[in-house]
Amino acid sequence: MSHLVEQIAELTAFRDRDALDFSLATALQDLLRPQAVLVHRLVGEPGAQHWLLRARVGGDEDEPAADSLWAELDSLPALQAMPHHAHCLQGGRIVALEGADGTPALTLFALAAEHEALGVLELRSERPLAADAQRLVCAVLRIYRNFQGLLDYSERDTLTGLLNRKTFDECFARAVRHPRADPGRAVAPEPRRVVRDTRACLGLVDVDHFKRVNDSLGHLIGDEVLLLLSRLMRSTFRYHDRLFRFGGEEFVVLMRCGSVADARSALERLREAVERHVFPRIGHITISVGLTLLRPDDTPSAAFERADKAVYFAKHNGRNQLCDHDALVAGGLLADETRASDVELF
Ligand code: GH3
Ligand code: MG
Ligand code: MG
Repeated sequence: MSHLVEQIAELTAFRDRDALDFSLATALQDLLRPQAVLVHRLVGEPGAQHWLLRARVGGDEDEPAADSLWAELDSLPALQAMPHHAHCLQGGRIVALEGADGTPALTLFALAAEHEALGVLELRSERPLAADAQRLVCAVLRIYRNFQGLLDYSERDTLTGLLNRKTFDECFARAVRHPRADPGRAVAPEPRRVVRDTRACLGLVDVDHFKRVNDSLGHLIGDEVLLLLSRLMRSTFRYHDRLFRFGGEEFVVLMRCGSVADARSALERLREAVERHVFPRIGHITISVGLTLLRPDDTPSAAFERADKAVYFAKHNGRNQLCDHDALVAGGLLADETRASDVELF
């Protein structure tokens, strides 16, 4: 019993979601001693979903949580390539499979959460887990879900469900700390299947003339616009892009991009989607968007400031447009004060 309590204490010791999947696998490995415990998450757009291995404990080697921001989707197994896992997830119930020809038996449990990606917990053992062990896993999963709910409460904005500003710094540090730049960073071995040649960009979205919406129709309608806008953001960006509400009517997206052109087209897609969307009672609204490529030594405030300057430029040049800070600097339309102050230091 005290061992169980210790494992629960371990499980709830992390506030980092990536570490949480790894600690779930470790806790179950310690409690039940199966051959291996794996946590898979379903990533990608509906219709093109893939399995991302987020954690593996036991077997040949332990594997830490792969950071979904850097996962290479096309190299991951497709949803139907793991049909038992897909079946487990779709049915939302336990699937037990006998082993054959030296392969271990599998017991699969669906992992559902309000904001996390759906997933499957896989236990490999000689025989499928017995009923009492299955009940124990289900109890641990309930604690795990409750804990995730608490994390959501502290990390997410209550109106839109997007990540809140407080969470931004930590996500930012990870986006800058690309595995290519720092291969030895992981808690355990470097996760496999990470993209090698990508960068991260920050986009800042500000609603145009939002004060008018509030003034003419009231805050409640204003809030509804913010909620609908956050939904448009979710449907525009990919699973691994991180979306934040920064307060008021400002939103930030941290995204992985092969080039600035990729980031531009994603943000441009959002701008167009908002422009086209008919908002109840209001009709049409527009947004101004600032974009900047993250630099290896960036800080959250420096990157935000660059994107903010690009938004400011957009606001003073007609609104309803996307401005790229770095392109404005290259074109002589903005001064790069971050770089200027770096130079002054030396
Ligand atoms: P601009 O195009 O220059 O951005 O004009 P704007 O009217 O959007 O100006 P600004 O960004 O300065 O104003 C933001 C307004 O957003 C002020 C406030 O009325 C409104 N606002 C801020 N937070 C909230 C919120 O949580 N809910 C609602 N409904 N309105 C908010
Ligand atoms: Mg604003
Ligand atoms: Mg505004």
